[in-house]
Amino acid sequence: MSGRSSGFLTPDSELQLSELIRTFGPTAAARIWGVATRGVDLIVTTAKRGRFDCDLEPQDSLFLGIGRSGAHQVMAEANARRPARAPRPAGRGSLGYRYRHYHADQLRSVNPGGYQAGVRYSGTYTFDPFRYCQGLKDDLAAKGVRIFERSPARRIRAGTVETPNGRVRAGQVIVCVDQPSRRLSPGASRKYYHALTYLALTEPLPEVAIRSLFPDGRLQRWDSQQVYDYYRLTRDNRLLLGGGSLLTTFAPRALRTPRIIARVIARFRRRFPALARVPFTRYWPGLIDITVDLLPIADRDPKDPLAWYVIGCAGLPWAAWCGDHLARRCLHQPTEDYDRFFGWDRPSPIPGPVLRILRKPAAFALGYFAAKHRRRPAAR
Ligand SMILES: Cc1cc2nc3c(=O)[nH]c(=O)nc-3n(C[C@H](O)[C@H](O)[C@H](O)COP(=O)(O)OP(=O)(O)OC[C@H]3O[C@@H](n4cnc5c(N)ncnc54)[C@H](O)[C@@H]3O)c2cc1C
Repeated sequence: MSGRSSGFLTPDSELQLSELIRTFGPTAAARIWGVATRGVDLIVTTAKRGRFDCDLEPQDSLFLGIGRSGAHQVMAEANARRPARAPRPAGRGSLGYRYRHYHADQLRSVNPGGYQAGVRYSGTYTFDPFRYCQGLKDDLAAKGVRIFERSPARRIRAGTVETPNGRVRAGQVIVCVDQPSRRLSPGASRKYYHALTYLALTEPLPEVAIRSLFPDGRLQRWDSQQVYDYYRLTRDNRLLLGGGSLLTTFAPRALRTPRIIARVIARFRRRFPALARVPFTRYWPGLIDITVDLLPIADRDPKDPLAWYVIGCAGLPWAAWCGDHLARRCLHQPTEDYDRFFGWDRPSPIPGPVLRILRKPAAFALGYFAAKHRRRPAAR
């Protein structure tokens, strides 16, 4: 999944900062946001230290509001960064994060396309995740790590990993697979589902098209729709555009039909008529693993305590942080306790019996909307 992804490197993922604050309160939200931020740092530091040839570059993020409700969402994101009580320097939020809030008329010079508002922040990057993964593999191999590609783990029990070619025994096993099957781990397979998204890519754009799209320099952008559209320029000036549809996001498998991405492209062309003739020459679907509350699991399986699992990472920084966190726990290095957020048996926004009755697509669709809209109970 990492190699197929779009290479936005930001702490934002399915849950934005304002949603984290609404659900967990500002202190806990800052801890969770800090984890995603450390995930970004881990990837950036690893790429820089290993000098990976992966097009890593700093690039600000811009969250764009569509219509009145989108403008409200943008305002909520700006407020999430704004001082709670004590006045702070302009552009710093309650959690101390820098941001810039644009109204529609200010936005036009930074981002045309008829959006109603935008919030921009830095500390984010773009990169080519496939080449990052290759760089990581080469780096590890050079350090003597043995890597077995095309060798699927079929079953993991009590420190033994079975593959078609043999078994491996280990004191502790860290499992970072996507879509763990029931055979591999019945417990892990119940914990995740997926969200279907699509990406499309153009040939390198001419300079004039780039200027019309990014008049104030390159930005990675996504919008406020429930199933959001997102786009950025690659290092070689191709436009990478992603999105999906409400109806197919929770489809049981990756549908290869071009119809969904064609609608995303049509929406994009309506906003940017100057690019109406630019052809998208390839597209691909991808499944993003998610848990029912949209935060990953990074914990040991209570039924098989030698196996540690990273499950349902909806974002590259989460995956990086979770792997690092579990490695530290296995090595008995000091780590903070994050079980309340990333533990195996943390409370779910959808009660267990409801989850068991519903099939996975319905249960996780419900979980998705509950996670994005739930509020923490008021303090008594
Ligand atoms: C189209 C698309 C665009 C995305 N864009 C972004 C983005 O811009 N920014 C962002 O932060 N996130 C993005 N994501 C999400 C991101 O890709 C994931 O969150 C991230 O890749 C998860 O990393 P991972 O290491 O957990 O899983 P993966 O990268 O999927 O790694 C799991 C590995 O396990 C292997 N595996 C599976 N089963 C077994 C088995 N039984 N035995 C051995 N190995 C096995 C798989 O082959 C794979 O190599 C996107 C996802 C998609 C699909």
